Amino acid sequence: MSDTALTEAQFERYARHLILAEVGEEGQARLMAARVLVVGAGGLGSPVLLYLAAAGVGTLGIVDDDTVDLSNLQRQIVHPTSRLGAPKVESARRTLAEINPEVVVEPHALRLDEENAARLVAAYDLVADGSDNFATRFLLNDVCHRLGKTLVAAALSPFEGQLSTFKSHLGPPHPCYRCLFPEAPPPDAVPRCEEAGILGAVAGVVGTLQATEVLKELLGIGESLSGKLLVYDALRSDFHRIKLPRDPACPTCGQT
Ligand SMILES: [Zn+2]
Repeated sequence: MSDTALTEAQFERYARHLILAEVGEEGQARLMAARVLVVGAGGLGSPVLLYLAAAGVGTLGIVDDDTVDLSNLQRQIVHPTSRLGAPKVESARRTLAEINPEVVVEPHALRLDEENAARLVAAYDLVADGSDNFATRFLLNDVCHRLGKTLVAAALSPFEGQLSTFKSHLGPPHPCYRCLFPEAPPPDAVPRCEEAGILGAVAGVVGTLQATEVLKELLGIGESLSGKLLVYDALRSDFHRIKLPRDPACPTCGQT
């Protein structure tokens, strides 16, 4: 009974969503109206973008200032060999257009900084952080808290992934990223994929989990990962969850 009635082609494309009581026409319309900002079109961003586009999330913003390099292709599956040297945002946009031309892709070929982060985040409903550095993670955490946006954040190490959802803007008991790590470690304390290496499929597992949490948040279904850190250990084939309490003395979301 809404003005966002689905077309015949959309009924077919999204049939396996529509049949789910937890999604249905209302949920699909919600996904199609949603605006999600994906930060990083790399190992995590690739599966996040692919699944969100396939799911029909209406508008996907992509932030990345890098170009496609041959050494990326082992894990960054949104980029094909034919686009070596192209800006990653443009390469991703073209792949997503092939998968689902109904999705509007907004490429942002820039590096997030204090100047542009708030303006960009403000234009979206939810942020998925697939960046590879602490400066961006802390910046996104603080901006999302301030602007009242939900942040679904993931991180990778060679055989491990971590995932959580932050909605500290809703108040206690929801923690933010700084409740876990109050300050960024020194720039070179934690090696990035480029230096440390990574089993490519691990990025796929964790990025797919991240896409699932984004869809759950948009649909408002299931149990949110807010307040929990999900850790995937690929070598042991093990998942475990760690409780993340809100820190009353947190520099971002603390009461003082
Ligand atoms: Zn906090």
